[in-house]
Amino acid sequence: MFENLSERLEKSFKLLKGESKITELNIAETLKDIRRALLDADVNYKTAKTFTETVKQKAMGQNVLNAVKPGEMMVKLVHDELAVLMGGTSTDINLKGSPSIILIAGLQGSGKTTFTGKLANLLKTKRSKNPLLVAGDVYRPAAINQLQVLGEQIGTTVYTEEGCKDPVKLAKDGIAVAKKGAHDVVIIDTAGRLAIDEQMMEEISAVKKAVNPDEILFVVDSMTGQDAVNTAKEFNDRLDFDGVVLTKLDGDTRGGAALSIRSVVDKPIKFVGTGEKMEALDVFHPNRMADRILG
Ligand code: GDP
Repeated sequence: MFENLSERLEKSFKLLKGESKITELNIAETLKDIRRALLDADVNYKTAKTFTETVKQKAMGQNVLNAVKPGEMMVKLVHDELAVLMGGTSTDINLKGSPSIILIAGLQGSGKTTFTGKLANLLKTKRSKNPLLVAGDVYRPAAINQLQVLGEQIGTTVYTEEGCKDPVKLAKDGIAVAKKGAHDVVIIDTAGRLAIDEQMMEEISAVKKAVNPDEILFVVDSMTGQDAVNTAKEFNDRLDFDGVVLTKLDGDTRGGAALSIRSVVDKPIKFVGTGEKMEALDVFHPNRMADRILG
């Protein structure tokens, strides 16, 4: 479906690019196509309508019909509005707490633990922070071990408690240890499951309530298409998270998920994962994502 958004936009533009003389009718048809493509990518009706109306107004205002390269001008207008739709500018995470508490949520396999390591690495190397990681995926020894390996790799403390099955206690203890150890950021990894289930949601809600995070980031695999959108909605309904992390953008996905998720949950995408290495994390830039969606 997301490949579709790009392909369909491309098709709409082909119409314009191929025309030697562009008419108001061509533009109207292209905009109608774009609106349909947006609706099919889960952008809500009102947003899609405003989107096409804005592009139309700008096209008229800039006198696209008489431009030397009208097709290119339309593509640029659509590109810029797509970037606006995805938030316009980058949105930072809240690091004002002392320590700042960041809770990481998402399904198993979404890239949560990897992102926890990447974020710590970024905060350490680029923002001079001293993070402490809490290995809160208490049900999977492999996940705890994975975080410990990552922590060693990036030179960051990982807090664990042998045999502890209580994520609330673990999070609270981790924060206490961070305070004593002069850590200014605590990043709490949490247990994910393969699909949303009630126990997971209750548990993470309990952690949220107990530690009152400065930032809750929801991690989602960009390759999972429509599931990514549905999962984002369910997590947001329960957790009211602050931002989204879109992982695995190094794959061949075109990034339509960014647009759909933003539209459905109305929360900013803050980071994108672009590989398995600890350095493969970028701040989300709506402009670059618009480039990618338009191909
Ligand atoms: P978790 O179960 O949500 O904690 O997921 P993991 O962090 O264990 O990640 C699941 C798999 O996805 C691992 O093999 C990671 O190396 C891989 N992974 C995570 N983020 C990315 C990414 O941005 N790009 C790619 N290609 N792989 C990733």
